[in-house]
Amino acid sequence: MKIVLKNLTKIFPSRNKKSNDEVIAVNNFDFEIPDGKLIGLLGPSGCGKSTTLYMISGLQKPTSGQIFFGEDDVTELSTEKRGIGLVFQNYALYPHMTVKQNILFPLQNLRGEDKMPKEKMLEQAYHAAKLVQIEELMDRKPSELSGGQQQRVAIARALVKMPRVLLLDEPLSNLDARLRLQTREEIRRIQKETGITTVFVTHDQEEAMSISDMIVVMKLGVVQQIGEPQNVYDSPANLFVAKFLGTPPINVFEGEVKEGKLLIGGAVVLDVNGVEDQPVTVGIRPEGFILDEQGPLHCRLSNVEVMGRDVSIVSTHEHSLNPIIRSIINADHKVNIGGEEVCYSLKSHKVFLFNRDTEERIYF
Ligand code: ADP
Ligand code: MG
Repeated sequence: MKIVLKNLTKIFPSRNKKSNDEVIAVNNFDFEIPDGKLIGLLGPSGCGKSTTLYMISGLQKPTSGQIFFGEDDVTELSTEKRGIGLVFQNYALYPHMTVKQNILFPLQNLRGEDKMPKEKMLEQAYHAAKLVQIEELMDRKPSELSGGQQQRVAIARALVKMPRVLLLDEPLSNLDARLRLQTREEIRRIQKETGITTVFVTHDQEEAMSISDMIVVMKLGVVQQIGEPQNVYDSPANLFVAKFLGTPPINVFEGEVKEGKLLIGGAVVLDVNGVEDQPVTVGIRPEGFILDEQGPLHCRLSNVEVMGRDVSIVSTHEHSLNPIIRSIINADHKVNIGGEEVCYSLKSHKVFLFNRDTEERIYF
């Protein structure tokens, strides 16, 4: 089931009648989510991710714009009628019910023509439990489960009605690091197995990058960029997106373009043919540095961290906009540096230029 968002906007009115501090939580979101894909909705806290998800679910009504499931306009449809499964950060299981009762609950609540015979309900409950691999826990109470198991129950409960759309709002935030990793792979497997169109909200770029077919990066209610994770990483549309994706984060410098050359602190570091002379902000991915004694970018060496496969070199530079510069050098290359200075040449496709004022990308 594809989901179409058409100029979707949500404005929360000011709480105080006298002031005009209304919040544009989601601003003109326009996107067609392809059928059967997992979309990662990504951005810092407060950027409008949950509000977008709640509008898709029907829990919140858009101020303007429309939502389609397939060809059906569902903008005015209630949550119950939309055929969605919802999972939140806090699992919100009923503590006095067993796992089985929790999973059965949405089915028992069906009324009218949707009402199901008991056998059919049990069959679907066990099918959902099997998908998330908790069949052997069906008779336990939520308090007898680990966080990861509870979140699986919550996912089973969202799947039991065989939804057309699965909506997950930061579902892994309450899990410890190892479980988070395991559960996100689990979610990916379930999504692939069922083929349910899924929107996965997270503020964690690594999480979104690792499991999404496509990511949508948001900032202050406005979509910044949509694309396959690797493409967005490799070609960010603006400085915000460049900085939001990647660990270690991108290194940012003040630079200047003069006669087709990029200068950082007066040194020519790269050819950037076709770019007009102007001051620029320069982003360099950690893997974009090449150790090179003759290299033009001279940094003050702080520290070398060995990480097994890679070596991470920490340095500083007068024109760096971050307190430190971190490069990642493959340990296959002999990393042998001492002294106070480290010199680099740059991989052109790992260097991005941005307009100093608008922070939009300048392509070269
Ligand atoms: P996210 O999920 O990305 O952290 P939200 O969608 O929850 O962000 O919130 C987006 C913006 O809308 C924030 O500025 C938030 O304070 C505001 N907001 C969210 N819900 C309400 C509400 N019910 N009333 C007023 N403002 C709200
Ligand atoms: Mg949220």
